[in-house]
Amino acid sequence: MGHRALDTKRPGHKSQVGWPLNLVKKCGTLEGALTGPTDTPTLEELVDRNARETLEGGAHDLGALVCLIDLDSRLLVGELPDSSLMRKGRQLKAGELHFVADFAVYPVFHEERRVGVLVMSAPPGRSDFRGMARHLCRLTEAFVADGSKRAHSSRVHNDQLEGANRELREKNRRLGQLVEKLQEADRVKSNFLATVSHELRTPLTSVIGYSEMLLEGIAGTLNEEQSEYVRTVMEKGDQLLQLITGILDISRMESGEMRLLRAPFDFNEITGIVISTVIPQARRKKIEVTLSVPERLGPVYGDRDRIRQVLINLLGNAVKFTPEGGKIRVAAERQPDGLLDISVSDSGIGISEEHQTRIFDPFYQVDNSSTREYGGTGLGLSIVKRLIELHNGKVWLLSAPGKGSTFHFTLPLALESKPPE
Ligand code: ADP
Repeated sequence: MGHRALDTKRPGHKSQVGWPLNLVKKCGTLEGALTGPTDTPTLEELVDRNARETLEGGAHDLGALVCLIDLDSRLLVGELPDSSLMRKGRQLKAGELHFVADFAVYPVFHEERRVGVLVMSAPPGRSDFRGMARHLCRLTEAFVADGSKRAHSSRVHNDQLEGANRELREKNRRLGQLVEKLQEADRVKSNFLATVSHELRTPLTSVIGYSEMLLEGIAGTLNEEQSEYVRTVMEKGDQLLQLITGILDISRMESGEMRLLRAPFDFNEITGIVISTVIPQARRKKIEVTLSVPERLGPVYGDRDRIRQVLINLLGNAVKFTPEGGKIRVAAERQPDGLLDISVSDSGIGISEEHQTRIFDPFYQVDNSSTREYGGTGLGLSIVKRLIELHNGKVWLLSAPGKGSTFHFTLPLALESKPPE
């Protein structure tokens, strides 16, 4: 077997130097010849692209050619050599370097398993070829050892990942079951609350109604003490009714039973009605209430009664949490995206940041002591939030203790209200 002159200029040639043409064959696969377990890394994994380039470059620098071929006859470096060299490579024992004319053949092993064959060649008569070949073998072995470490650590890493993944899937499954149970419990709770609240409302309305009739003197004139007692019965009954109505609303919203009756409505009219209901209480505390809504606002699209409820809750809070002589302002501003930004501001006690996200939770009150200064149920804001979200709107607030609070919410303007193009 001879060695052709090294040709570095062959167009489209992968290696910078070419194998002698008579040795370059389209080899068939070496299937069966190079076998081994498949769960261990392949030669391609062991000798990565960088290593292959270094090996090829190193051989080229020494003026030699190198070919590295794996178990499946995949050529990793250089060009396919003569099959007789390959056959020889498959017969050699680990560490055996075999020379045939200007060629050297070396079997590549990994953990006592044959993984490939290394073939090297040099121009005829190179006296240092043997040393050169040994050097290339050591280089290849070093790459295999390095690749082995890499493959091992990546396998460990993969095993860990797989373990973590399995654990995560299991936790996820258990979490899913838990969520289902909780949802079911929540449904039962909502149904229970809805039924109980409904059943409580009917007799309570009678209690309030009969107290009113007694106070009006329909059943005979009451003396002052009796009137006071009956008035207390009526007031407490009213508070209870508010609480029950709130619970009923929340449970309806939670169970998805609350249906909105959406239609275009006049926002100014609703605001006027709500303000007139809180004015008496505001006057008693000498609180000034102002309204700032653009003229020709056009209709808002939503459930009129529910939006009235939202405004009553926000304005009721504003009056409740604003000391004497304070100010309340209701404003509405058109947003460019077809939304209306409505705000209720007060100069009241304000809310610290830690409470700001929680006040929308049912029954949450900043002051939850038994000697609470302000009454209420802690349901108003959670109803506001849910109602606005049912309208696809958003609720947020800006507040600081002692500096007052501004509650904002958005509502869509009715399509008809858009100015003509
Ligand atoms: P309620 O007013 O019946 O207690 P809400 O859900 O309406 O229930 O409000 C929850 C809590 O948020 C109130 O108890 C109060 O601590 C705080 N809060 C609501 N609005 C204001 C406000 N305008 N200024 C200061 N605190 C407020």
